[in-house]
Amino acid sequence: MTDRAPQPIWRFMLPWAELDVFTRDDAPEALQPTAAALARVEDRFCPALLRLHRGGECAFVAVWPTNRPQLQLLTTKAEPTTQDMQDVVLAEIHSLTCRACEERFRVVYPDLGIPFFGSHLAAHRLINECPVCGNDFTTSRIQALALLPPP
Ligand SMILES: [Zn+2]
Repeated sequence: MTDRAPQPIWRFMLPWAELDVFTRDDAPEALQPTAAALARVEDRFCPALLRLHRGGECAFVAVWPTNRPQLQLLTTKAEPTTQDMQDVVLAEIHSLTCRACEERFRVVYPDLGIPFFGSHLAAHRLINECPVCGNDFTTSRIQALALLPPP
């Protein structure tokens, strides 16, 4: 630990909150578990902290759709515009158990209850089946933006 607080690489302002996006290598304490869980997935999954103006902060994963030019910008410090955040979904890391084969997974699971971000899921491809037994969502209840390696 250094005495320097990690700085967000992107800060996106909303009327009711701000979203700080961090790199996995330089994330604050509250995002360390998220950053560690994301270590082996694509760069479009970033640890992010949503700070509510009425108080409180929540750890999320900010997820960009594949093949977006904005992803290159993520290496540069910036104040993103609404356009830059178009189609970004906020997600949480959850444990899911397949209802068919009972295999357990850690997944990046979209949180659709968040204003602005909650309506962006259509731009993303969801995993809708269990990778172990192959049963679809209806049977397995496995749905995710990404499957994470076990801890
Ligand atoms: Zn299964």
